[in-house]
Amino acid sequence: MRPHEKYFRIRPTAVILVIFVTLALATCSKKPQTFITGTTHSMGTVVNISIYSAEQTADLEQLYLQAVQAMEEVSAHAAGFRQGSELYDLNQSAGDAEGFVVSPILLDLLLKSQEAYQLTSGAFDPTVAPLVSAYNFAYDSKTGEKSTPHPLTAQQVSALLPLVGFSKVLVDEEKSKVYLPAGMSIDLGAIAKGYAADMACGRVAEEISGVMVEIGGDIAIRGDKPDGEPWQVAIADPRRPQETLVELLLTGDCGVATSGDYERYFEVDGIRYSHIIDPKTGLPAHYMVSVTVMAPTAALADALATGIFVLGIEPGLALVEQLPGVEVLIYTEEDGELGAHYSSGFEKFLADDEDREQIGYSN
Ligand code: FAD
Ligand code: MG
Repeated sequence: MRPHEKYFRIRPTAVILVIFVTLALATCSKKPQTFITGTTHSMGTVVNISIYSAEQTADLEQLYLQAVQAMEEVSAHAAGFRQGSELYDLNQSAGDAEGFVVSPILLDLLLKSQEAYQLTSGAFDPTVAPLVSAYNFAYDSKTGEKSTPHPLTAQQVSALLPLVGFSKVLVDEEKSKVYLPAGMSIDLGAIAKGYAADMACGRVAEEISGVMVEIGGDIAIRGDKPDGEPWQVAIADPRRPQETLVELLLTGDCGVATSGDYERYFEVDGIRYSHIIDPKTGLPAHYMVSVTVMAPTAALADALATGIFVLGIEPGLALVEQLPGVEVLIYTEEDGELGAHYSSGFEKFLADDEDREQIGYSN
């Protein structure tokens, strides 16, 4: 058994499966399709998976389980705060001059993190892990229970800051080895959900027409629905997360991810401090309330959403305008009023004029 195989066991998760067979009436032009949609739980959050096929014979239930398995594989390698995960063991190896041999999944995740680190000038930086733990934004290493976050003193922050900086970590792609300096640790919480959604789609994409995987608001899409209808993606109101603020209509392969201050935060003197940490200051970022990124993959969208949340509005918009196939919608809050800021190509994905009005778009 190769070393990293020890990390993966299928865990029975509660699955609610609904299989729909919609046979279009002979009269209408739409192609007949079957689809399956299911909800499960992973990575401390809710997962929704929808798979579409033009073939009535497709074993959708089997494909659904394969998608869940691919997602769980990523979780088993990338859950940095969970004992027994590969990333947990890598973090335990900090200071070991021999380095730590990593699996193809973890190597790929680290290389994609390096790319996002460079693209965002260090605003996306997975070595914020010691700060994430110290603020208590992580979860219990055995039960996965969320912990209760709290502020840190300036002394505590400045003592931890020297442990942050992805450029201090050596990732040897050829040898699949990682050298983590003593005291440092890595948290892939800002990219691994998007990556897992990409992996789950990739695992079944060959055999079906279209698949959408949503992990706690981070979404990967591959292919199209046989009936030609676009994929609908709702962006939540960051102040009333149960409500939809705007809706997107998407076709073809892409990823959508949102980072927000409403997921995990603590409040001091009425100011909300989110679980997204500025690696340069060691302080929780609190200049905006949500950032939604669309990109060619969900992993890139996930990482960029976190990075832009730290970078700020103007540097964030400027970065996105340089990146092909990437668009962003940023919400800020002033005196209880939400303000929308978006990239030049974002508007064309909005579902209707009501949504355009909502973001203050006028042509
Ligand atoms: P994002 O904006 O996408 O990410 C924010 C997270 O990234 C922060 O929570 C922090 O972990 C990290 N981070 C903060 N600042 C930065 C920065 N500047 N650069 C890079 N990273 C940063 N939660 C549980 O409660 N229980 C679990 O058992 C559990 N298991 C998980 C297993 C896996 C494999 C993953 C990926 C996540 C898991 N989580 C779990 C959730 C995790 O703790 C985070 O809350 C979640 O990933 C944050 O995603 P987000 O989309 O809300 O925010
Ligand atoms: Mg993210």
